[in-house]
Amino acid sequence: MVPASLKRELRDIVGKERCLDAPEDLMVYSHDVFAEKKPDLVVLPVTTEEVSRVLKLANREKVPVTPRGSATGLTGMCVPDRSGIVMAMSKKNRILEINPEDRLAVVEPGVITQDLQLAAEAAGVFYPPDPASQSICQIGGNVATNAGGPRCVKYGVTRDYLLGLEAVLPSGEVIKTGGRPIKNVTGYDVTRLLCGSEGTLAVITKIIVKLIAKPEARRTLLVAFRSIDDASTTVSRIMAAGIVPRALELMDQHYIRTCERVYNLGLPTDAAAMLIIEVDGFAETVDRQARIAKEFCETQGAFDIKLAQTEEEADKLWLARKIGSVALYRLSKTMVAEDATVPISKIPAMVRRLNEIEKKYNITIYLLAHAGDGNMHPLITYDPGNKEEAARVENAIKEIFEASIALGGTLTGEHGIGLAKKPFMHLEISPAEMELWKNIKKVFDPNGIMNPGKFV
Ligand SMILES: Cc1cc2nc3c(=O)[nH]c(=O)nc-3n(C[C@H](O)[C@H](O)[C@H](O)COP(=O)(O)OP(=O)(O)OC[C@H]3O[C@@H](n4cnc5c(N)ncnc54)[C@H](O)[C@@H]3O)c2cc1C
Repeated sequence: MVPASLKRELRDIVGKERCLDAPEDLMVYSHDVFAEKKPDLVVLPVTTEEVSRVLKLANREKVPVTPRGSATGLTGMCVPDRSGIVMAMSKKNRILEINPEDRLAVVEPGVITQDLQLAAEAAGVFYPPDPASQSICQIGGNVATNAGGPRCVKYGVTRDYLLGLEAVLPSGEVIKTGGRPIKNVTGYDVTRLLCGSEGTLAVITKIIVKLIAKPEARRTLLVAFRSIDDASTTVSRIMAAGIVPRALELMDQHYIRTCERVYNLGLPTDAAAMLIIEVDGFAETVDRQARIAKEFCETQGAFDIKLAQTEEEADKLWLARKIGSVALYRLSKTMVAEDATVPISKIPAMVRRLNEIEKKYNITIYLLAHAGDGNMHPLITYDPGNKEEAARVENAIKEIFEASIALGGTLTGEHGIGLAKKPFMHLEISPAEMELWKNIKKVFDPNGIMNPGKFV
């Protein structure tokens, strides 16, 4: 509960237009894609000082504060499990600097990721991390979840582009971590600790990201295989050969057929699997890289290979990958999108395990994967109102996580833990490591007000 006196104080800090408690507002700020719980109050700060003053008061009253980006999370990360205050960052959304000379950008957390990418490209530089939600998610949410995306196979994830942060501790104290230099080894790396902390340690209020040179050209191939084993073996062979595509995505037959049924894109529905392979770099090198990738596919039994000749054709080849999950949402009552991730060489084994799990639980697993980095996305559609079916899906998910861990993988390659994966943490994290995390949490947040009820 947020006491009435605290509400009044908070209203004095941010003004009544940015301090919301009408039932319809609380409803809007209660959910992400996975879970739902209403807060008691929503504040929308614009300045770091406002963030600091709000946290100080919440800490004094021991009221929970859950930071919120665009709520595109898939695991309940921004859902206020213990109610209290939701701190929505959407109005703290200025791009403060794009600096091609120092190769960096300084932004506020509420900037939409795609807006940063476009601003960088307009200045002739490149911000590579590209979560598929980039047109709606916030860069602050990306930092707090260490978001990835198709291009991360070559360029790395959000963490790899972080130079420094400004963050506010629950006490209201403002800290600055890292800074503007590309090289910086002064002391503990708190920037990286905050990255992926899912709002459990501090509120991120400013972000300095590294930018790189914009690749001159790209080549995109869409390749169809008669067996998913051939497709997944091709992935590990391409990676082992030292070609690093900018994207290497896999789609299985269930996914291809659903996409074709809804959107009629002309996909080969007899294919057991398709790969999107995209290479980039200097104009002189991309054709050579594309040719080598194509030869690997042919050797591995590919029966249909499309190579885009123009940017428009390349975008068209990406269409199935980008809109397939929308087709699944349209055709089903609900869908879970998991992201168990395995070492690259274990992709064929993981694909086989997914097939076994699908048969054992009599469900359909639509497989999508950022295959180049082992990040599998088994998608399962079902009717949550059908208790028996929901129980089968729940057991299948548990077995997917167990399979991933048994193959040396992880519970989550990019979607985060949130509420969804909390019950499975013991599969990956030892009691000793969890104890260490709890102690770290206590140092940042002794009163436990930051996003309580989550993984620590
Ligand atoms: C269609 C779709 C596709 C997706 N594709 C991808 C993908 O390819 N790769 C990927 O990694 N994810 C993907 N996601 C998941 C999601 O978009 C990412 O996790 C994204 O980084 C979340 O950003 P957000 O702004 O929506 O954050 P939210 O969901 O609002 O919050 C996520 C977490 O960040 C914390 N947080 C947010 N802002 C701050 C802040 N300023 N300070 C401290 N903590 C904060 C919240 O407390 C919460 O714990 C996808 C989601 C959808 C719906």
